[in-house]
Amino acid sequence: EHTTTWKQLNDHLAEWVLASKAHTADGHVASYIPELANASADVLGICIMDMDGNTVAAGDTGYHFTLQSISKVFTLILALMDNGEEIVFSKVGMEPTGDDFNSMLKLELVEPGIPFNPLINAGAIAISSLIAGNTPAEQIERILAFFRNIADNPALDINKDVFKSESDTAHRNRSLAYFLKDNGVLDQEVDDVLRVYFSHCSIQVNCTDLARMALVLAHNGVDPIRNQRLIPRRFVQIAKTFMFTCGMYNASGEFAMNVGLPAKSGVSGSILTMVPRRYGIGLVSPALNRKGNSTAGVHLLGKLSQEFDWSLF
Ligand code: GLU
Repeated sequence: EHTTTWKQLNDHLAEWVLASKAHTADGHVASYIPELANASADVLGICIMDMDGNTVAAGDTGYHFTLQSISKVFTLILALMDNGEEIVFSKVGMEPTGDDFNSMLKLELVEPGIPFNPLINAGAIAISSLIAGNTPAEQIERILAFFRNIADNPALDINKDVFKSESDTAHRNRSLAYFLKDNGVLDQEVDDVLRVYFSHCSIQVNCTDLARMALVLAHNGVDPIRNQRLIPRRFVQIAKTFMFTCGMYNASGEFAMNVGLPAKSGVSGSILTMVPRRYGIGLVSPALNRKGNSTAGVHLLGKLSQEFDWSLF
């Protein structure tokens, strides 16, 4: 089955990318972080990687972008590895809810004032504060080391311009963090935890990096290429469950219906997804729909899922 799929992908991915690319015209590049507004609206690139590290890629595959919300999946995993489930789930809930960028109200809906889940901004900020380290600089170094290892790319680094742009304009994230602090969810100071949070959102990658990171999740925490366990299986299970139920903002239900795979998107127009036990998939297309997901990206994944019957159900 892999051989047929792989041949089909090699034969058709470029043409499917071209067809989906037309949908970039229906979206808009995110501009609430000024630096993100410089992204190219008509870009679409995708990389699919199998367990031996072979790739099929098409479109603008050399394009660089920042992880943004995709980073939340991996900081959640690192926080779980640093603290265990019990501590992590005393700070964030497990309930799916979309993040519609004004999640202030949703903060208090779960138990005593903890964010609904680790993928909405409030939850991800709480998670950033759980990363081990004596200073924000140490926490950021540990996050970078972890991401570099998962991506098998020692060159991954923070895009300083995006980091600065994001910290300078983050009034909502700042208010979320103060609210968390007031509710006793954050032990750390607000400015320190935000520095950690903006740093991991600003890590720069390309589609191949994303596909490589996804591959480790697709194989339940084992890097099939280096044949090495990088993440305990249970923590990957937790991460993938959140991706499935709330990885695509308020369109997570629609994505589950039309694509049926665990995925996480970011406002850079990036999507990380996977075919469990088989492929890691990374794509970028910065023009977003009203829900904050890449228009062309969602279209392309719908096409692939249909073509290969990739839905989990
Ligand atoms: N760093 C971005 C923010 O907090 C991430 C947003 C996203 O990708 O959803 O606003």
